[in-house]
Order: sequence, then C-alpha cells, then structure tokens
Amino acid sequence: MSGLRKPGGIFRIPALLALVGMSLSASAPAQAQQGSAVLFQNVRIFDGKNGALSTPSNVLVRDNKIETISVAAITVDAQVISGGERVLMPGLIDAHWHAMLVRPTPAAAIAGDVGYNNLLAAAEATDTLMRGFTTVRDMGGPTFGLKRAIDEDLVIGPRIYPSGAVITITSGHGDFRQLSDLPRTIGGMLSRMERIGGSMVADSPDEVRVRAREQLMQGATQIKLTAGGGVASPFSPLDVSTFTEPELRAAVEAAENWGTYVAVHAYTPVAIQRSIAAGVRCIEHGHLMDDATARLMAEKGVWLSTQPFLDLAAASGLGPAEQGKMRQVVAGTDTVYALARKYRIKTAFGTDILFSKALAERQGAMLSNLTRWYTPAEALIMATSTNAELLSLSGPRNPYPGKLGVVEEGALADLLLVDGNPIDNIKLIEDPAKNFLVIMKGGKIYKNLLVSDKQR
Ligand SMILES: [Zn+2]
Repeated sequence: MSGLRKPGGIFRIPALLALVGMSLSASAPAQAQQGSAVLFQNVRIFDGKNGALSTPSNVLVRDNKIETISVAAITVDAQVISGGERVLMPGLIDAHWHAMLVRPTPAAAIAGDVGYNNLLAAAEATDTLMRGFTTVRDMGGPTFGLKRAIDEDLVIGPRIYPSGAVITITSGHGDFRQLSDLPRTIGGMLSRMERIGGSMVADSPDEVRVRAREQLMQGATQIKLTAGGGVASPFSPLDVSTFTEPELRAAVEAAENWGTYVAVHAYTPVAIQRSIAAGVRCIEHGHLMDDATARLMAEKGVWLSTQPFLDLAAASGLGPAEQGKMRQVVAGTDTVYALARKYRIKTAFGTDILFSKALAERQGAMLSNLTRWYTPAEALIMATSTNAELLSLSGPRNPYPGKLGVVEEGALADLLLVDGNPIDNIKLIEDPAKNFLVIMKGGKIYKNLLVSDKQR
C-alpha cells in the first residue's frame, strides 16, 4: 500500500462507507460540502479564548477554514445557517483519548479480531464527533488506519493526533502479557499486543529508540511512554517508576529529532520528576503529585494533561485490585487540580475513557465536571484553545496545519452551534444530541438540525 496516494484516491471503498454510514443516527446525516461556502448568520461567538460572547455576528466558512467574521452583513453565495443569536463555538478537543480502546473489553482489545476492532472503533469515532469532539489526541493504540480512513472521509470521526503504540517496560503499565509469556528474549518473538501495535515493551535505551522511531515512521504526532505504574495493568503497582532516565531520554531524542515531543503516563512525584529531567514535555495524569513537583512543572513549562476522575466509573470494567488503584487516583483528583491552579501549570483537559460505550457517552459530562475547580468559561477554554496549544507541540508532525480550538479568521472551521449559552449553562454539552444543532469539521457539516437556505 502506497503512503503517497492522495485522500479520495483509489482506496475509497463505497461498500465500507455504506456499512459505517449505517451506524449514524438518522438525525445526523453527513452533508459533504467540500469546495462550498457556509454562512452562519446572527450568532454570538465563544471564540475559545475569551469568556465573554461576541455581539451578534456573521461567520463565513469557505472550504475548510473560517474566512470572515463580521458584525456587518455578509452577502455571498453560500449555504446559510440562521443562528438566531445562538452560540457558535470551536469544536471540543479531548487531549487524552484512546480511539481503539473505548468500546472493546481489555481482553477483546488485545486478543480480538483486528478487523472487527477497527470497525468498532470507527463506529465510536462517529459517535465521538457527534458529541462535538472534533479532535482527539490519541494516547495509545493502533489508530493509524482509523485516522487515515477518517481523513479520507471513508469514516466519519474526529481529527486524530496519534501516538501509536504505547512504549512500556517489562511489567510496566501497558504490558498486558501473562506470566506464562515470560521470559522475554530481546529481539525475540513479539507478543500479541505488540504485533497489533497496541503497546511495545522496551527494556533498554536502544529498544526505546527503535520503538519510538517505528511509531514516528507510521505517523505518530507525539510519542507516549509509561513512566510509572497504572490502574488497568495487571503487573504494574501505582508507586513503581518504570523507565530509567537514559531510557526516557532516548525517546525524547528520537521525538525531538522529528520535531515533536514525548508525553508520559505518570502519577507519582518520582516518575514525573525523572521524566522532566529527561526532557519530557507533557505529563499525563499526575494525580499523585506533590507541591514540589507541581512547582517544578510550572518552572519548566511542562504541560499537565489530566482528567477529572471523580469516582470508580473509569475502572468499572476492571477487577478489584485495579479498582483499588483507581480509588487512590480518584483521591488525588482534587490535589492535582488545586496544584495546577496554585502554580498556573499549563493544563489540558482529557477523559481517558476506556472499555465502555456507556462511559464514552459521558465524555461531555466529564468536561462539565471541571466546574468543581474552574468556571464554565475556563473549562471551555481549556477544552478548546488550550488543548489546541498542546497539540501544536507536534510542530512539523502536525497532520492538520492550521489553527484549531478557536473561532477566528483563518482558523480551521471546526464549529459547534449550541442551542443555548454553554457559558451560562455548561451542562448543555452533556446532551449533545439535543443541544448541538450544527456540528462542522473542516468546513463540512456533519450534523444540522436547522433548516438552511441558499443565499445569493
Ligand atoms: Zn490513557
């Protein structure tokens, strides 16, 4: 398969498109409008940066970008959406997502049929976009094929910034082998999770380098390592630090040589501090961090990509030992947000929803959970322009050149028209089927519950 073929080339498969199309809700028909213009008339804009709405304005989208924003009328040949002073806002961004792991059970994700798992992920990707999440930063899993199919419009879904396989150590978070799979020989046979590109075990700087470069070769926009223990892994206690500093640095060098960065899964101060020493730019989670570590993150300008875990729901599909670990993480949620605020750490919003379609339906509700620590406007800014700033760390590896997370002239046209004001009532985003009247990604309308007219 040539990687050089242009989107929409000979690999467009109408039968697959029809199959995936069946999973769309009847109220959300895709209306591909490429090359055309769409005019949102009379909308109040939440621009992703300021908590105050604009005065009633008009927004012209041409091709995939926002061309003009004007209080004065715009007269142009375009499909018109009469906003009725409703709120137009940037599409939401989830900074910690696992597109391939939302719906399957842990066992099915590893051992299940790869074709089926991809179709399952495609159906979930469509639902993700229909929840108003127009971009996800995928923090581990074999998403390269799904991303390509979405970009080619074979499948309806969000933009994906893929990490590819998570890189871990023997027994680390992401090592889902059984004890019967041991011992491992370096250079020996790969395990199932490695063969499908879910996670890769690396036990030396050289192995880390190989695995990081393999992800970059496949199109990773950032590299993900697990620097400490995790909830869902059977042989990975939470307190454990995994990679050595030279191993972490090998990944950082590989990523930086490609103009991008490393993000690590880490809860504890030791794992976070060692990662920062190695040049890691973003800490995922951080729920068990302490004051000194938070201060260090702020001083070094290291990102915190964390999640508002409030209960054991995220571990509902897991065993009692994993639920015990989840309890520890949940107990740290108030701490991590308090420290993030205290030291003004650059903080991104993500959900890390795994192994449950029901939980995924709460993706927007997790965002509104941020109002325990932030104003609704601050939460919405985090999930739009701030998350987009984190995405921009991918530099030349960014697959979607252009500005995301904002409503401004020249930005990519990822837009939601909301039936109400989410700054007054952030709970509107918990019911996207009802309250998101229009969902647009890259200038294309994927959902429109309003009647539109042609204007000349
Ligand atoms: Zn994760």
